[in-house]
Amino acid sequence: MRWLLRELVAVDTANPPGRQLGRCGRVLRDSMKRLGLSPDLIELAPSRELEDPCIVRCSVGDGPRTIYFHGHFDVVPAQDPAQFRPLRRNGRITGRGTADMKGGLVSMLYGALAARDLALLEGHRIVLHLVCDEETGSVAGSGHLRAADLIDPEAVAMLTAEPTGGVIWHACRGAITLRVQTSGREAHVGYVHQGINAFEHMIRIAEPLTTLSHELLNERTSFPVESSEAAGSMLVVGGQAGAGAGFNAMPGSAWFSIDRRFNPEEELDQELARLTGMINRAADAAGAKVDIDVLQRQPSGSTEPTHPAAQALAQSIDAVEGAAPRFQMCPGVLDTRWYSQLGIPAFAYGGGRLDISHGPDEYIDEAAMRRCAAVYALFAHQMPD
Ligand SMILES: [Zn+2]
Repeated sequence: MRWLLRELVAVDTANPPGRQLGRCGRVLRDSMKRLGLSPDLIELAPSRELEDPCIVRCSVGDGPRTIYFHGHFDVVPAQDPAQFRPLRRNGRITGRGTADMKGGLVSMLYGALAARDLALLEGHRIVLHLVCDEETGSVAGSGHLRAADLIDPEAVAMLTAEPTGGVIWHACRGAITLRVQTSGREAHVGYVHQGINAFEHMIRIAEPLTTLSHELLNERTSFPVESSEAAGSMLVVGGQAGAGAGFNAMPGSAWFSIDRRFNPEEELDQELARLTGMINRAADAAGAKVDIDVLQRQPSGSTEPTHPAAQALAQSIDAVEGAAPRFQMCPGVLDTRWYSQLGIPAFAYGGGRLDISHGPDEYIDEAAMRRCAAVYALFAHQMPD
């Protein structure tokens, strides 16, 4: 397992911008061939700055009931280029993407092979979906699987090896990302009486939204979360912003971003209408001209912990770890949503830790990778008919 993780981490697939995705896809495809599988490399249409975006897809076993093992091979940018030189020390592999989630890909791959070789599949087949572009919205990667009808709505389960730190994520938040632009009239600082200040309009529109962001923290989910402080509904106003051509001119345009992560109890269209309604009302009150671009709109997703597939996963974890796992809502957005939106029970479970995942000391324990591979193989076996 180790050799494959080291090869994968050594390919810098930082996203943004989405470097070397084709190269990493070929490393995966060639490694899977060496392991006796017959993967397909699906080349995707050019998108943004993604370099040779692609998906690696492979069937293991030939039963009629499909279980998806899904994961992504892009990573968040590194704090230090040395993170792309994986280090092995004290049973741990350190490097960018070891936890999120190249280590998970390796565990899923070996789990699928073990399930096949130990004849655990019994009427099931595992389809591996290894995608790019998860870290920046996943429309190019997982979105393509959906758009090209490569996800079978009759599938019995989907599992992704994201770094859950040993809990099962059975639910995730939805996402809305907006770019809000105001337009005024540019004027030299000596002629401000002729201008219309787009920045002033922008802050009047942003103000009620920042108030909302504090109120939303009290709109708490009833889904189990890591800590009670994390139960609120999330909104970031002004994660990115910009205005004007220079300090000595009244800005003729200004813009800011809004990122909303809403809880599973909240509804996508309602939340989008709440935000656009506030923006338009504030713009009217300020006499501002405003344009709203919807950059991302994704519903939340969830599967009941009592679902037979959820119970099969919990029992497999119990059998390997010697303790029943907890179910929690993921604090962010997950690729599970592409499947749960089709009615497929979908979960994340992995050996990496989320809290170190995007940081400078990202690592995964080799023993955790092996135990996860065993969980994934058993899960395929425990799935009800
Ligand atoms: Zn991830």
